[in-house]
Amino acid sequence: MIETERYAPVIGLETHVELGTRTKMFCGCGTLFGGEPNSQVCPVCLGLPGSLPVVNKNAIEYTIKIGLALNCTIASWCRFARKNYFYPDMPKNFQISQYDEPLCIDGYLDVAVEGRTFRVGIERVHLEEDTGKSLHVGGATGRIHGADYSLVDYNRAGIPLVEIVTKPVDRTGALAPLVARAYVTELRDLLRSLDVSDVRMEEGSMRCDVNTSLSAIGSGVWGTRTETKNVNSLRSVERAVRSEIERQAGVLDAGGRVIQETRHFHEESGKTTSGRSKEEAQDYRYFPEPDLVPVAPASDWVSQIRATLPEAPSARRARLQAEWGLSDLDMDALRNADALDLVASTVAEGASPADARKWWLGELARRANETGVALADLAITPAQVARVAGLVTDGKLNDRLARDVIDGVLAGEGSPDEVVGDRRLTVVSDDSALQAAVDAAISANPDAVASIRAGRTGAIGVLVGAVMKATRGQADPARVRPLIEQRLS
Ligand SMILES: [Zn+2]
Repeated sequence: MIETERYAPVIGLETHVELGTRTKMFCGCGTLFGGEPNSQVCPVCLGLPGSLPVVNKNAIEYTIKIGLALNCTIASWCRFARKNYFYPDMPKNFQISQYDEPLCIDGYLDVAVEGRTFRVGIERVHLEEDTGKSLHVGGATGRIHGADYSLVDYNRAGIPLVEIVTKPVDRTGALAPLVARAYVTELRDLLRSLDVSDVRMEEGSMRCDVNTSLSAIGSGVWGTRTETKNVNSLRSVERAVRSEIERQAGVLDAGGRVIQETRHFHEESGKTTSGRSKEEAQDYRYFPEPDLVPVAPASDWVSQIRATLPEAPSARRARLQAEWGLSDLDMDALRNADALDLVASTVAEGASPADARKWWLGELARRANETGVALADLAITPAQVARVAGLVTDGKLNDRLARDVIDGVLAGEGSPDEVVGDRRLTVVSDDSALQAAVDAAISANPDAVASIRAGRTGAIGVLVGAVMKATRGQADPARVRPLIEQRLS
């Protein structure tokens, strides 16, 4: 990026993560995604007069877990605050959040980019409630401007939401977009390992606001930052930072001034456009939430939670990479395809690492792409993939038949063994049956036979192909070849 020869980017990320608790933050309503609109609501999350919130202990526990995994200090005493604002998606007209007393402060997360490690400081991890969702009907853009009417769904209102705020990240230079992406990726993997959220960016259970500013190199002064809201894929995080660096550098080069504002990122163009001017904290008139008692987690409870922390994803990746004998590039490919956990589970079910990688990154990645679903959402389990790989290893299937078995499993025809049985997909290993097919191939292809006899052994492929065709793919090519050679010797 040529802009970074003149300007040093400073980035900051605010990530919202819906916690995977069974019930909402302050009431007993369920939290399942995709329910009928307004079917998971009650007087508390609808903000009806006289209703009183009660803190969800599970959500506190999950937040402490996240804070500990991010090397934060856990507050021994903190309070919730009222954040006052008027939007139709928050029926109380305020949001219960945390302001000057967050539950977790001052941590860090290390991320690796192009062989360098960047320590991203964590300013705070706090807990709040999610808002409802507005749906603007009519109009071309799906935004409120130009819409005929709007609908509000409060199922999401009150779902526990953790906000993880980084300290400003500087000294990344041209790598700023990649560092932003690597941070969100590492954070996603960390949260997934903690089992506190399903962290699905496409369903909105993890959303990112990306702050970007530029400092003229040598000036020692930080620039005005913009906040790009609700960026919802890893790739978009990188693109949003890149696009803001380019845009802001253009404004500054022309002698202009960057305005402090929120911006929207557009997937199609990869650009941001102006949103609203940014509220200041004072606009929200925060005050301690009078309906809730303070949260004071006992230190032995925090110790107990610390003892449950799993191996850090970066350490686990290093361990698996060594165990599986993979290069950095192989490992990146697994991670980019979001296949690491699937491969690990498939290996745990008995497949070799090479086979597990081959099927998930090859055939299955292709199927996922074609049907537009995530790899993990394909209708096949790691145990089933391990079984298919095992059948190939045992010589009961060849790769072509294995793909047919995968077809059958994905089509809901049952387990690999059931598909093999129903579709009669086993390899023909009976030599007398193969021998007959070999003889037929030899008499039907005299030219190929003549070539082979003249020493052009490449022509043997023609005969192998003929046998495979005659057996409808059910022959084992590794077995067919020696039979042909034997016959022609
Ligand atoms: Zn409720």
